Amino acid sequence: MGKPMGFMEYQRELPQDRNPLERIEDWNEFHHSMPEEALRKQAARCMDCGVPFCHSGIMLNGMASGCPNHNLMPEWNELVYRGLWKEALGRLLKTNNFPEFTGRVCPALCEGACTAGLATAPVTTKNIECAIIDKAYREGWILPRPPLQRTGKKVAVIGSGPSGLACADQLNKAGHLATVFERADRIGGLLMYGIPNMKLDKGVVQRRVRLMAAEGVVFVTNTEVGRDYSAEKLLREFDAAVLCGGATKPRDLRIEGRELKGIHLAVEVLGANTKSLLDSNHTDGKFISARGKDVIVIGGGDTGTDCVGTSLRHKCNSVNQLEIMPKPPAERGPDNPWPQYPRIYKVDYGQDEAAVLYGADPRHYCITAKRFVGDDQGNVKEVQTVNVEWVKDDLGRLSPREIPGTEKAWPAQLVLLAMGFLGPEDNLLEQLGVQRDERSNAKAEYGKFATSVKGVFAAGDMRRGQSLVIWAINEGRGAARECDRYLMGSTRLT
Ligand SMILES: Cc1cc2nc3c(=O)[nH]c(=O)nc-3n(C[C@H](O)[C@H](O)[C@H](O)COP(=O)(O)OP(=O)(O)OC[C@H]3O[C@@H](n4cnc5c(N)ncnc54)[C@H](O)[C@@H]3O)c2cc1C
Ligand code: SF4
Repeated sequence: MGKPMGFMEYQRELPQDRNPLERIEDWNEFHHSMPEEALRKQAARCMDCGVPFCHSGIMLNGMASGCPNHNLMPEWNELVYRGLWKEALGRLLKTNNFPEFTGRVCPALCEGACTAGLATAPVTTKNIECAIIDKAYREGWILPRPPLQRTGKKVAVIGSGPSGLACADQLNKAGHLATVFERADRIGGLLMYGIPNMKLDKGVVQRRVRLMAAEGVVFVTNTEVGRDYSAEKLLREFDAAVLCGGATKPRDLRIEGRELKGIHLAVEVLGANTKSLLDSNHTDGKFISARGKDVIVIGGGDTGTDCVGTSLRHKCNSVNQLEIMPKPPAERGPDNPWPQYPRIYKVDYGQDEAAVLYGADPRHYCITAKRFVGDDQGNVKEVQTVNVEWVKDDLGRLSPREIPGTEKAWPAQLVLLAMGFLGPEDNLLEQLGVQRDERSNAKAEYGKFATSVKGVFAAGDMRRGQSLVIWAINEGRGAARECDRYLMGSTRLT
């Protein structure tokens, strides 16, 4: 343990984010970093408790508690406290291929399970993780390290999101030639064309991709496997394949008026916005602008937050976010004890910005859209909603019931549907003959990652359904390990 009683001596502190009114004027990241001395104090708050739940990554009450990747945070916290940053980096990279991504976007499942959080407030693990890797890049410690020996085996990785990247990185470390196929024009999956720039700068993603390319990973963009490159050719030309294509089928809202102009799937809007930003700093006009519009975001999760932040940067007239679920409690409920992930009310960056600009959190709870109303040009002009209450049926299942008299009309010239994803696309899985599970994901047991087709593995959202970046990294690593075992008979990958 770095500093006995450090958690009693120092309060939890995070760096201040950039001022909301300043940051909505640009697309740069909203985080600030913290001076090293302050970070060391934060690391000193780690108790090195006997049983550190923070890295357990176990499922409790249907949710992961602790880091799914079993990152070694008590070890790096101690090393940071002692000023041994390079050693801390070594422990960090042992389990996490891309801490510069998780250090920015992870919901920090570790902090929900931190023992210090029982008595006071959790250690700022996510921020320390980010600080270690950012310092490592600044100091020039992150250099290409190609494998010393090649096995001569070729593996295709389909999809370049965090699962595909982690998988390719691990396969390359094991000496296999990994080729990553991506149908988009840039590598990164939702790290590139989902999560917006202000949360994760695309230079951070591209820096990692350049590093991996220098280490020998081959990237093939603008190529959809199953369309531009046949599944049959894939099986013929590679010794194995890992499917990391994500769960890219968005959930739509098929209510009256859905066909009106101005109603879009959030992920398409966010992707086009980032592409236009990177291609031309938005001068090509190839994105859907919220400028001057009343925006309604349907869905209260991460994607909805990103839509709010994006609309504000476009200079929308107003933005409101509708969520059918009830508002979470301010503190853990009795059914959500430590070390479960806290299901509590949180204000993310987009809501924070909207609140500063308009005086209130843009989220409205227990409300559902009933129909979209258009003008005589076929453009959406209004969203009609009704409030709901959650009631238990005879089997004890909760379902929403409309409350009569609560109907409301919201002016809207732009509606963004951010209601999650249904599962992976069918084409490639069907062409390969991969069996599906009951949720339509690629069927492959967690830990083994092998699909019903010999030599074909699956990982990330394509296997587990819509999830988190850290789960994608965890699964990409696991699939690489099992693929290596399949190719070589044994494996040293973890
Ligand atoms: C808007 C948004 C914000 C999010 N924010 C967060 C967040 O803040 N924190 C967090 O932890 N998680 C977040 N998530 C979830 C997270 O991004 C995903 O769980 C994660 O990216 C899944 O990784 P993946 O590698 O499995 O798939 P993806 O990232 O979806 O990547 C799959 C890739 O495969 C490609 N592909 C698919 N089929 C083919 C094919 N046949 N040939 C070639 N390429 C193909 C796709 O083009 C895509 O690039 C967010 C998701 C969204 C949509
Ligand atoms: S990846 Fe997420 S859960 Fe794991 S240590 Fe980092 S912030 Fe915590």
